[in-house]
Amino acid sequence: MKAEIIAVGTEILTGQIVNTNAQFLSEKLAEIGVDVYFQTAVGDNEARLLSLLEIASQRSNLVILTGGLGPTEDDLTKQTLAKFLGKNLVFDPQAQEKLDIFFAQRPDYARTPNNERQAQIVEGATPLPNETGLAVGGVSEVDGVTYVVLPGPPSELKPMVLNQLLPKLMTGTKLYSRVLRFFGIGESQLVTILADLINNQTDPTLAPYAKTGEVTLRLSTKAVSQEKADQALDTLENQILDRQTFEGISLRDICYGYGEETSLASVVVEELKKRQKSITAAESLTAGLFQATLADFSGVSAIFNGGFVTYSLEEKSKMLDISEQELKEHGVVSEFTARKMAEQARLKTQSDYGVSLTGVAGPDSLEGHPAGTVFIGLAHAKGTEVIKANIAGRSRADVRHIAVMHAFNLVRKALLSD
Ligand code: ATP
Repeated sequence: MKAEIIAVGTEILTGQIVNTNAQFLSEKLAEIGVDVYFQTAVGDNEARLLSLLEIASQRSNLVILTGGLGPTEDDLTKQTLAKFLGKNLVFDPQAQEKLDIFFAQRPDYARTPNNERQAQIVEGATPLPNETGLAVGGVSEVDGVTYVVLPGPPSELKPMVLNQLLPKLMTGTKLYSRVLRFFGIGESQLVTILADLINNQTDPTLAPYAKTGEVTLRLSTKAVSQEKADQALDTLENQILDRQTFEGISLRDICYGYGEETSLASVVVEELKKRQKSITAAESLTAGLFQATLADFSGVSAIFNGGFVTYSLEEKSKMLDISEQELKEHGVVSEFTARKMAEQARLKTQSDYGVSLTGVAGPDSLEGHPAGTVFIGLAHAKGTEVIKANIAGRSRADVRHIAVMHAFNLVRKALLSD
């Protein structure tokens, strides 16, 4: 089915309201496997709406109109659709009864002919009752095209779509999606590695999205049940994860989780809770961002007692008991400093995992290191490891944010191998 959405309302064209109805409808139609090919907005103008209906009737078999069902003079959607289809408007008895009750309860309100229009539908249409308002919607089938009219206010449109329209449109198949999350690979490399799968896709489909510091892949399939969808998505997921990066790393190792809400931090926090292990951090350039990210999750006190923000060389020495002389010799942006910070933070808080972050947030370089150079340490029962990340060409905020992601990823990998 080829669907299109026409939002009627001059307020949309002048930017006074955002066309959230189209977004809501597209999302809900996708969920039941209906493809939306076009979204348009048109003002409250009969001639322009007629010309748009002419185009839509040629290219779509489901045309959904939203807005313009109200009592005011500029509300002309139903009248224009009726004119386009060569039909009259007729009263829907149920909607009329609703109007009767509404006005009986409000004797002070004037009942004008305009109000009556809200109870009208296109002749032959199936009415869509309005649970939260007075304007009735409708579904008309003409020459193989289904026309739907819906009210503009989202508070009226949403229940009408969810409770009336979608059950009528259900085709038996639904769209099922799965999101895979990757850290440690750029979007362009991932797209290159998966080029054949992306270019030849029909069902399931594969869509990459780049986010700050990470990439996600959305796998989608139309299926009659979750079980059937899982079979198709499992096959594609395995084909993807069997591939390797240019550096020979398996995508299985850099795929860290599933779903829109998952993050490197949430994966780490969950795993630490499960294993009843504690974590701490000593942070320089990120000045507490790693620890603040931990605190985004409820119940984190079970795994996190506290840590350190050691921005200056003096505080690194004082708070963490690291020789000032040695810090000066190696520099604060160094493998040595990251190692010591992680070990001392772990020791002083008696934690299972000690993380450290020291580096150059930018934009200026430091100690001869360019902006984006970050040393990240992790001390745990098996020893201490330090990685050097080059987060070049990024804003100060991004460098700090991505440095924290590297730190969580380091902990994630250690947890996997512990
Ligand atoms: P009413 O009975 O309120 O006149 P209506 O069906 O005639 O309803 P409109 O007059 O087109 O709808 O719009 C009424 C209000 O609904 C707008 O002021 C706006 O707040 C909201 N609205 C209309 N269209 C949209 C849209 N496409 N997306 C989001 N909100 C919308």
